[in-house]
Amino acid sequence: KLFNEVQELKGNIRVYCRVRPFLSGQDKKSTTIDYMGENGELLISNPFKQGKDGHRMFKFNKVFSPFASQAEVFSDIQPLIRSVLDGFNVCIFAYGQTGSGKTYTMSGPSTSKQDWGVNYRALNDLFDISLSRRNAFSYEVGVQMVEIYNEQVHASLHSVKSTSDVLDLMEIGQANRAVGSTALNERSSRSHSILTVHVRGLDLKNGSTSRGCLHLIDLAGSERVEKSEVTGDRLKEAQYINKSLSALGDVIFALSQKSAHVPYRNSKLTQVLQSSLGGQAKTLMFVQINPDVESYSETISTLKFAERVS
Ligand code: ADP
Ligand code: MG
Repeated sequence: KLFNEVQELKGNIRVYCRVRPFLSGQDKKSTTIDYMGENGELLISNPFKQGKDGHRMFKFNKVFSPFASQAEVFSDIQPLIRSVLDGFNVCIFAYGQTGSGKTYTMSGPSTSKQDWGVNYRALNDLFDISLSRRNAFSYEVGVQMVEIYNEQVHASLHSVKSTSDVLDLMEIGQANRAVGSTALNERSSRSHSILTVHVRGLDLKNGSTSRGCLHLIDLAGSERVEKSEVTGDRLKEAQYINKSLSALGDVIFALSQKSAHVPYRNSKLTQVLQSSLGGQAKTLMFVQINPDVESYSETISTLKFAERVS
């Protein structure tokens, strides 16, 4: 009860946790996850500490277990996504260390329909709804893809008419990725990738218009790298990622505190998203967890980030 009241006070920020399953061949691994509650509780155990002090409880708006399907996750956020047609701005982030399931949640492991992540499902749903409302409203949809790498913004703009247009685009992306597979995958985990869906609505009865924007953001891996382990370009990359993720944390924290000053200017990521963070805009963050005990300290640092912004 108290938690719900706190959430209402804080308004338009929601934090969901998603725990990924062990992958095939990992069945002998042990887990840091003690308990996942229906009301968003997550109990983590410290593999290095026994007894009462070895456990820590975190609380989210919702926790998705390793058994949660892509369809289940989507149906929960569908109303939020549809609000874009009514002129709201929405940001959906995936945060977590590399390998925790960010891309699985946002894009899915393949382009076959049951595997679709949030991005295909969202576009598909927006097209479906706009079609079903076509006697009353006319919608125009545009899609923009932005990559932020080392604080540099690379953008491309497409106008799309249907889900198959989007699938074509994504398939081009996948084909490109296959070419330089390791190099590109590596880079994708060190860049923020933003898929933005712009929707312009026209009410055919009274001529009024609306504009909404959906940003789907697959963030760079949040893992900390030891300064002693990396040098040169890798160190620079790591510092840029650190800086932008903490700038994002600072912005969401300021918004959750209803602070008068929101520090948008500290990173390209928060600058690009500025008009969709705060005000009437709605924010949802998926906090992605790898259940492996070897990930314990990264898991705790991910959960601390989430605790601060929720
Ligand atoms: P990230 O983008 O955070 O680096 P990925 O999305 O690439 O992580 O996930 C790492 C691996 O785990 C991939 O092989 C992915 O298919 C798998 N995976 C992640 N989440 C799930 C899930 N919920 N169910 C099944 N497999 C998953
Ligand atoms: Mg990824």
